[in-house]
Amino acid sequence: MNKGIEIARGKTKVLFEAAGQPDMLVVKQTDSISAGDGARRNEIAGKGRLAAQTTARVFRLLNLCGLPTHYLNGGEDDDDNEMLVRRCNMIPLEVVVRGVAAGSLVRRNPGLQRGALLVPRMVEFFLKDDAQHDPLITPDAIIAQNIANPAEISAMTEIARLTFEILAHAWRKRDVLLVDLKIEFGRLAGGENKGQLVVADVIDNDAWRIWPQGREELMLDKQMYRNLEAVDDAGLARVKGAYEQVAEMVGSFPVMRPGMVALFADSPEQTPQLNTVAQALGQLGLPVLRHVASAAKTPGYVLQLLQQHDATFARLLYVALSGTDGALRVMIENSTSNPVMDGSGDPAAIALHCAKVLALEDTVLFGRTLLVQTNTRSAILQADAQINAQQPMGAPANLA
Ligand code: 5GP
Repeated sequence: MNKGIEIARGKTKVLFEAAGQPDMLVVKQTDSISAGDGARRNEIAGKGRLAAQTTARVFRLLNLCGLPTHYLNGGEDDDDNEMLVRRCNMIPLEVVVRGVAAGSLVRRNPGLQRGALLVPRMVEFFLKDDAQHDPLITPDAIIAQNIANPAEISAMTEIARLTFEILAHAWRKRDVLLVDLKIEFGRLAGGENKGQLVVADVIDNDAWRIWPQGREELMLDKQMYRNLEAVDDAGLARVKGAYEQVAEMVGSFPVMRPGMVALFADSPEQTPQLNTVAQALGQLGLPVLRHVASAAKTPGYVLQLLQQHDATFARLLYVALSGTDGALRVMIENSTSNPVMDGSGDPAAIALHCAKVLALEDTVLFGRTLLVQTNTRSAILQADAQINAQQPMGAPANLA
């Protein structure tokens, strides 16, 4: 990658300017591994390569889901472990999301059963300060110390939870339990969205705990290194083996499983609704096929299309817009083994339902569904806040 001067160096990565691109940086992950705020430190040949692959694949997944991140490209190919990212001013916080009790949470709360499921997920903030061993910090202290404002704390909490849920879904599909996760945020330093909060830094096998089959003793993450009683070649080789396995599994995280939604309208009058549903599906990134075919008037054509589609697509859903008799939907339902949905009603809700069905096997669609639901909820809360700001309780505006 075309790098400029080195601008910063961390325990496991080096940042460079991106030549000729002031709003971008190059992140290079190194072969170092460390624990205990750097008290233990080793080199594992090839770890930087695996870390860059893991980070790039995780960020590509998050970008495909629509989460704001600093990642642009690189990190996966023969590119010297380098990723191109948008330049950020980093917020000096580690944001930890926990789905299962482990690590420092259990140490701080001895009454808490190790391995207990945590719902809702717990979000904690730690101040990045090696000298003080990254202490836990409350939202009030973050605001008082001018590290972030209340809106940013809410956004970080929401985005961190979404990141956790998306990665937990991807790992669940591989029979691996995501126990906890650490991410960091930055504010974009330039460009049109200057100041926007984005997930930044790296997300690799150092940043989470993962337990295959939900069994802690099968762990594949950096905890293996932290747990080594004495660091020897055999121990480091085991750690490297786990990192290789993780990078390979994460390789399929951002891969979308091709799905198709076939929309059928019973008559030409229904094409406006058909098109609106198609548009809503398109916004979620779902490919569609559209047909007008009548159960009563062109039944042979309906059956011919169904047979063609059933024979072509591995993951197929039908949406049927029947006439008042409901015959088209019944006909399709009885002629295919694929799921069939009713196309009348709110197009956005129909599209979301299709996405949920296909998301059972596709983490990108799962993430997009979560984001749509989160945005819908926040629009409602915002509208409520606005209406109350305009019209204080007990002071009706139209008394005159
Ligand atoms: P804990 O607070 O239980 O030690 O860690 C919670 C989660 O955050 C774990 O997944 C752990 O790996 C991650 N984590 C905590 N501190 C750091 C850190 O300094 N660097 C990285 N990469 N991950 C961390």
